[in-house]
Amino acid sequence: MRCTKAVIYSENLKYNLQQIKNHVKPGAEICVAVKADSYGHSAVATARIAHELGGINWFAVATVDEGIELRDSGITENILVLSLCVPEEFPSLFAYKLTPFSFGKEYITALSAAADLYFEDNKKHDVFLAVDTGMGRIGCYPEEAGEQAELISSSKHLALKGMATHFCVSDGISSDAQAFTREQYEKFCTAVENVKARGINPGICSCGNSAAIMNNFDMHFDMVRPGIITYGYYPSEVTKEYLHSVHKDFDIKPVMAVETQVVAIRHFPKGKSVSYGRTYECPEDTDIAILPIGYADGLLRRFSPGMEVTINGRKYPVCGRICMDQCMVNIGKDNPDVKLWDRVVIFGPEESGALTTADDLAKIGNTISYEVLTSISKRVKRIIF
Ligand SMILES: *Cc1c(COP(=O)(O)O)cnc(C)c1O
Repeated sequence: MRCTKAVIYSENLKYNLQQIKNHVKPGAEICVAVKADSYGHSAVATARIAHELGGINWFAVATVDEGIELRDSGITENILVLSLCVPEEFPSLFAYKLTPFSFGKEYITALSAAADLYFEDNKKHDVFLAVDTGMGRIGCYPEEAGEQAELISSSKHLALKGMATHFCVSDGISSDAQAFTREQYEKFCTAVENVKARGINPGICSCGNSAAIMNNFDMHFDMVRPGIITYGYYPSEVTKEYLHSVHKDFDIKPVMAVETQVVAIRHFPKGKSVSYGRTYECPEDTDIAILPIGYADGLLRRFSPGMEVTINGRKYPVCGRICMDQCMVNIGKDNPDVKLWDRVVIFGPEESGALTTADDLAKIGNTISYEVLTSISKRVKRIIF
């Protein structure tokens, strides 16, 4: 087996899910975002672990194919499809019992017509109405919610299962950001009232992502949708600091460790350049370890210079450009602590021995942990530990 792999610490995943359960408003459902293969952590494994833990009745995917993968592996919980799909995919929604986000007269009408073709009996297919309260992505305006809910609930084969909106700055702690989130929440409440005013049951109302789960306890409504905290990362650096000051008892642990092994050690003289573009020259005689991991594995080119890897409890810098399949690490001359075949941790939880996390890489790459995690490619085998 290839030595470059992603180890999924299932105990940490369980721990994080339990933390979420402890902090969600009593009675509110939990819908774990397992989209993008659980942010790179294996959606099937995550869903199984959540199932074993119990009390988690919903999973959220982005695409119909992701939903089908869960169904094919025996997941029977409710599955929400967060992104819109095209009419060619509608029959699969029905066949695999996937609950889609929907909005817009044309979209709902097309979905309704497809359901009429698909279902022969009086069976109804569950649908969520998406409301745009400020995210500027999918969803109807709050004032359109009543009319669109009616379109869904009056359809012969569709049923309004719930309503949802998505926060765009709930990870911000500035008063501006917090005021905007509150405004979004209030607009969502208005949309729910508009639906009720037509005598329609709005079903499960949901707005909370990871940031709102922790920052806005009063906005949990009927269901929250945790993503990134499930995998052990805070939505943003500011929420992390803020939370540590207000919720001392909230604790999460990174779940994924990406690791590899030293496959060669080379002795380089002072001045020898390393990798493409000759951007790095050895400042003195030194030894360079070769690692069989590169940007095709998800180690983004922009992580170097800056990133460090952990070998036997010490950090060493990646030097020169990261290649597609390999990268180089300066381990210093005649270092007795690094030997051929030694294990190297790129990032991960404490338990993995890593001294860096996906947040450290994100900072260097000017991105967020979400992107670092989802960039770990298919070529990197996931090992559920
Ligand atoms: C991805 C996503 C979530 C989860 O977001 P996190 O910030 O990872 O908690 C929740 N709701 C929707 C609609 C999403 O797209």
